[in-house]
Amino acid sequence: MAMTDCLFCKIVAGELPATKVAETDATLAFRDINPQAPTHILVIPKAHYVNAAEMVLADPDLTTRVMEEAVKIADSEELSQGYRLLFNTGKDSGQEVFHVHLHILGGKPLGPMVSV
Ligand code: AMP
Ligand code: ZN
Repeated sequence: MAMTDCLFCKIVAGELPATKVAETDATLAFRDINPQAPTHILVIPKAHYVNAAEMVLADPDLTTRVMEEAVKIADSEELSQGYRLLFNTGKDSGQEVFHVHLHILGGKPLGPMVSV
């Protein structure tokens, strides 16, 4: 179900612009507006879930489809040297947009996974 005040539901609905990379019946991928690596793409389910935990519990098949889409995009973006897939989930992760999104980061050596 689309949430009226959700940024990414608005992108799915075509009410906000995005640089789309790939689309399926269930997923949408678009470039991050503030890239943290040479390639930084977000893969989202079109259905609204707040975070990865909620999506995994509610719809494991959809979760798999989001992951599969990310792997296909990593291939088409020629990230053969490697890439990082990341779901920020909840407050301590720094999650800012509460429509689940899988980050694909790559295009250079990414360095340590977290700073402490
Ligand atoms: P997170 O911290 O995991 O919630 O990440 C949210 C991501 O969404 C950030 O990397 C933002 O740069 C990105 N973002 C926010 N608004 C937009 C937008 N309109 N189009 C594309 N990416 C966005
Ligand atoms: Zn949403």
